[in-house]
Amino acid sequence: MLDAYLKNGELFLREMGIQEINEETVKEHYLLPLREMVVNLVPVDSESDAIAVLRAFGFSLPKSDSKVKILQALTGEKASSGVCSICGRKTKVVSNKSYIFPFERKVDSVVNEGNRLHFCMEHAFKLYSAMAYLYTVPIRKSQTGDWLALRFFFDAPEEQLLEMNRVFHDFWADRLEIEEKRGKRTSYSVKVRLELSKYHPNEAFFAILHSFVKHLRDVDMLEETEKLAESVDVHVFHGAGQFYGYRTLRGSTFERLIRFIDSIQRAGRATRWGDRHLQSLDSAVVMFYESLGIPRGKRDRSKDYLERERFFEGLLSGNFDFVLLNRIFMERVRHDLPLPPYYYTWAHSYLEAFGGGVVDLKTFEQVNGLGYSLGKKMKGTNLERYQWELFRARGFEEFLNKLVELQAKLEESLDLRPIYENEREWKVVKAILLNGMLNALHGADRKPAPDNSREGGE
Ligand SMILES: [Zn+2]
Repeated sequence: MLDAYLKNGELFLREMGIQEINEETVKEHYLLPLREMVVNLVPVDSESDAIAVLRAFGFSLPKSDSKVKILQALTGEKASSGVCSICGRKTKVVSNKSYIFPFERKVDSVVNEGNRLHFCMEHAFKLYSAMAYLYTVPIRKSQTGDWLALRFFFDAPEEQLLEMNRVFHDFWADRLEIEEKRGKRTSYSVKVRLELSKYHPNEAFFAILHSFVKHLRDVDMLEETEKLAESVDVHVFHGAGQFYGYRTLRGSTFERLIRFIDSIQRAGRATRWGDRHLQSLDSAVVMFYESLGIPRGKRDRSKDYLERERFFEGLLSGNFDFVLLNRIFMERVRHDLPLPPYYYTWAHSYLEAFGGGVVDLKTFEQVNGLGYSLGKKMKGTNLERYQWELFRARGFEEFLNKLVELQAKLEESLDLRPIYENEREWKVVKAILLNGMLNALHGADRKPAPDNSREGGE
C-alpha cells in the first residue's frame, strides 16, 4: 500500500515536470500537491495556507501552528542520519509526518520510536506529493473530536492510473466544497456534495460511486471508465486521526460496482419523494438507500444506520447480504415503516453484475417469485402472521414445515423445489422468500411511487 501511494506521488511530480528532487526544488514546489488536493478552490500560497488546508482535511498535526513546519520536515533541515524505509539507503532521513505518509498506524509506531517510518528527502517528497491524488470525505466528528473521514486513492499501471486520476479529478472538482470559517486564524470546512446521506464510511464510499457514475454519464465517459476500472484497485481508509480501518477494492469489483450502479440508475423514474424531487437517475438509488434505516429513538442518528453500513460493507466487496436486508425489512415492518422501494431492481441488477454469490440469479428469481405469490394470497387474511412464524423458524426443517403448513392452509401447492435444492443455503433462501413475501404484503400500496411493476419477478 505504501508502494501504491508512492506511485501516485511520483506520477504527480512527473505530471508537473519535476524531475530532480533537492532542497531547492522541494522549496519551490512543495505547495503544488496541496493546490491539487483542494482543486484550486482556495489559495495555497504560503506555509500557513498549507497548514489551514491540512487541518481542514483532517490530517493530524500539533495543536499549535508554530509547531507545524512542513517545509522544514520535508527538506530535512533537522534530519538525522538513518535508513530510509523505502530505498534502504543509509543517509540523512526525516521522520514520517501525517502529511508525508498519512497511513502509518499509531499501533505500529507507538511501541518503539525506532520502528517508525523514516525517509530520505527524495522519498519523503514523493510520498508527500501523493496527497495530490488522495481523496478525502469528512463524515462526522468522532467522540474524540477528530473528524471521522473516508480517504481513498487509486492504484493501477501507470498509464491507467494517470487516466483514472484525471477522470476522477474532474468529478471531484465539481463536488468538493471548501468554505472559509470565521476566526482568528484562517480555517476551512470541507464538504463533498452528494445525493445520498452518509453517517458511516462504507455508505460514504457508495454515495460517491453513485454520484461518480452520474458524472461519467454526463461527460460521456461511462463505458470507457468501466473498462478502465477493471485494472484499477482502490485503497480505502476510514477512521479518525491515526486510527483507521483499511481495505482494498480490486479492479474487478470496482468495474462491477460501476456497472451495477449504472443499471439501477437507469431503472429509476423521476418522482416526488417526500419533499424531494428525484430525477430518474437518482430515484431507484436514493429511495432504496434512504429506506434502510431502523429508528432507535436516540439523538445520534448514525445509530439508525448501523445495519445499512454493514449492508454496504458487504455490497462493496461483492456480497449482497439478503439475510441482513431481511432483518432490516422485518424491523421496518415492526415499526410500521415502508419497505425500501426498488428492492427487486437492486437485487436483480447486483446478481447480474456480480454473477451471483451464494445464490444465482435464477434461484433468486424463483424464490422471490414464490414468496411474492404466497404473500399475495396471504394478504388480508389471518395467515399474515406466517411472515413472523417463518422469520422465527430455526433450522431448515422447521422452516420447511412452516412453509408446507402455510401452503396447506392456503389450499395451494406451489413448487417448492428451489427451496429443497438450496438446503445448504437455507438461511439466504429463507431471507429471499420473506423479502418477496413482505413486498407483496406491505410493498405495493405503501410505496411513495409505484415501482412495483417488476417486484414479483414473475
Ligand atoms: Zn529513500
